[in-house]
Amino acid sequence: MQQMTTATRPEKTVQQVRGYEVFLDVDFTGLKYKGRVKVDIDSRGDITFDAVGQTVESVGSAGRKFPSQHDGKFLTVKTGKFSGILEIEFSAKVSDNFTGLYKASHGEGYILSTHLEAVQARKVIPCIDHPAHKAEFKLSVRVDQNLSVISNMPLDSSSIESGKKTFNFKKTPKMATYLLYVGVGKFVESKDRHGRTELFSAYADRSKGKINTAFSFEAAKKVLDFYESYFGIPYQLPKLHNIAVPEFAYGAMENWGAITYREILLHVDKDTSIRARKNVAHVIAHEIAHMWFGDLVTMKWWDDLWLNESFATFMDFKSTDWAYPQWRVWQDFVRTSTAGAMGRDALTKTHPIEAKVKDPEEIEELFDEISYGKGASILRMIEGYIGAESFKKGVDAYLHKFQYSNASGNDLWSHLQQASGTDVNRIMEGWISKEGFPLVSVSLLGSKLVLQQERFLLTGAVEKHVWPIPITMTVDGKAQKHLLDEEKLEVNLSSPPHSLKVNVDQTGFYVVHYDGKELQNRVWIEKLSPLDRWGLISDAKVFLLSGRMTFTDYLRLISRYQNEEEYLPAFEVSDQLALLYEISPARLLETSRKFHSEELKILSRKTDDNSATLRGTVAARLTLLDDGYAAQAASQFKDLATVEPDMRRSVVMGYARSSNDFDGLIDLFKKSTTDEERLRYLEALASFRKPELVAKTLDFAVAGNVKRQDIRNVLFYATANPDAYNATWNWFKKNADKLDTMYSGTAQFSIVLREAVSILGVGRANEVETFLKEHDYIGADIALERLRIYDRLAKSIGKA
Ligand SMILES: [Zn+2]
Repeated sequence: MQQMTTATRPEKTVQQVRGYEVFLDVDFTGLKYKGRVKVDIDSRGDITFDAVGQTVESVGSAGRKFPSQHDGKFLTVKTGKFSGILEIEFSAKVSDNFTGLYKASHGEGYILSTHLEAVQARKVIPCIDHPAHKAEFKLSVRVDQNLSVISNMPLDSSSIESGKKTFNFKKTPKMATYLLYVGVGKFVESKDRHGRTELFSAYADRSKGKINTAFSFEAAKKVLDFYESYFGIPYQLPKLHNIAVPEFAYGAMENWGAITYREILLHVDKDTSIRARKNVAHVIAHEIAHMWFGDLVTMKWWDDLWLNESFATFMDFKSTDWAYPQWRVWQDFVRTSTAGAMGRDALTKTHPIEAKVKDPEEIEELFDEISYGKGASILRMIEGYIGAESFKKGVDAYLHKFQYSNASGNDLWSHLQQASGTDVNRIMEGWISKEGFPLVSVSLLGSKLVLQQERFLLTGAVEKHVWPIPITMTVDGKAQKHLLDEEKLEVNLSSPPHSLKVNVDQTGFYVVHYDGKELQNRVWIEKLSPLDRWGLISDAKVFLLSGRMTFTDYLRLISRYQNEEEYLPAFEVSDQLALLYEISPARLLETSRKFHSEELKILSRKTDDNSATLRGTVAARLTLLDDGYAAQAASQFKDLATVEPDMRRSVVMGYARSSNDFDGLIDLFKKSTTDEERLRYLEALASFRKPELVAKTLDFAVAGNVKRQDIRNVLFYATANPDAYNATWNWFKKNADKLDTMYSGTAQFSIVLREAVSILGVGRANEVETFLKEHDYIGADIALERLRIYDRLAKSIGKA
């Protein structure tokens, strides 16, 4: 993989960086710039800057030139012991992938935008690119007079000279290098206000495809209210921009005061589905949480990247739940964050939440389900254990103590421990430093309940490990709490329980196996909450994959969820059957078709937002399973604009399945004005019954017709269409290197391997293994392990 190779910094002489004064003279059409950086710095010896890709013209201080060496990655300046301002002049090119200062196109033109996390600030300017070297930034940018510039801070002054305009921005507070932002181009801006903070939205101007940001302002104001009150610290900068970037490898990025998003994550209008609207609210809530967690208080080193991401994820759900209670978003939390993390962490190739990062190259791969979902689930577990009030108190004290500075996970645990009087340090240490998660086996010995733990692995292997598990359970309707911090715990009950459920509302990051049919049946005696109903089927999925549960038993359990009325368990079963259908289409077709068709009838009677999103998903999936339904959905295609937004996916997919109208759908794709619409047509174009048409769609996508950020989505859509597996796999083999290069510097390609190749490879695992070994892609080992698990299940289901 052509990831940027950056060895560890050779010398650590720098003691302090006080500030950077940066001037960039940008040639927008020539895609290059000249720069000057004045660094106010103390060093006990020669200074080594991170500097990737620039051509350094000169280095000096107060009229004196210093000799320097630049090897393309590091710029070493022979200053000796130094204290003062060092001036570096350089020139550089605009980046052609998604990191550094890069070109983001929107069809009619482009903007330039930065993405600097994790270690990409060094691609824009020579700097000490380390999160603990926080400094003040004073930025000036010169561009053609018809363009404008956005950065972290408001404009201080501007001047025009010979057709060029210079934007001088106010100085930032002390902040990490990876949070610097520069956007250059023609923008459409709108303005609003939250208390003393000026709010802006911005997007790249073009003739069609306006981005409607009214909802994004509403969501931003709500979550700002929540965070300012929860953290007890106001938002710290005078302004906050939400910027829609036409092409963006990640979903969004928390540059302080200038947050960037994919366009689909800011736009909401009457044609937007509720599914997309919920995503907009979540991502805004996540990024704005970073303004405190990450930007104001920053991790000392990338080992604690998870602290940023898991906290932002956890707070996102907290604030969204407060802002939009009707969505009951904690249900989505367990289904996406917790279950996603377990699916990843149950592989032997996983990593502890707190990963040891030596080489910056490893950092990108840490933006994964462990850092976001597992970390957030552990925070939810600890909050459940120490109580919401103590948790908030500890977090507030931590933020107050470390604002404008850096901290580590231990600092947070200590504050939670102080606030709660509970041994948080020991519990967190057990969960953070160890990879994997426990399986708790529950058995009954007379009136004694026996709880035993071991590591859970999808391979089916047994490993003895001990976690400090905060166990919650209801026994005969009454709540109990225990700390299971040894291999085995015996709980004496006065009599054998009539009913029992362990891991109440699924706040714990562990799976539960009840030994024996009799005990398993007692779980179902009391009425279960939707979260508990979810937990039982969610645990069953990993037991099926690991070979601990037979397919027959799994189907028996699924039948309890036929005609499911509750959103969360119904969504989960739909997700599981969709995945199993991808793994073993012939065997699952009838079960999945029956479930989805019954569920659609139930959902058609409901009017709430969550039912609308689930209805859209269930209907879309049904078009792949049922030709009759596909044709019925297709009949509304001519009146698409009048169809409820969440149902349009199924109508377009149904049309593709029953018409094979490649040219017609391509034409509509080209005429689309929003990304949601474009993705909808692309999903339909990848859902044809005829594999050669799916291959044609994939070719169309890489030929420059589809935003590069969305090409992976087209591949995911094709992966959900078993009719085209061979064609999609063959296409992938031909285009893998191209995708790897396109997404270099980000973790996007390894996500493709994990999510798509693990499915496409079922039935040809050896061929896939040979292919991946030949190419030596980052993340291939994880994809391969997952593929082996799916492949084994496909074989065993085939025999069932
Ligand atoms: Zn984040």
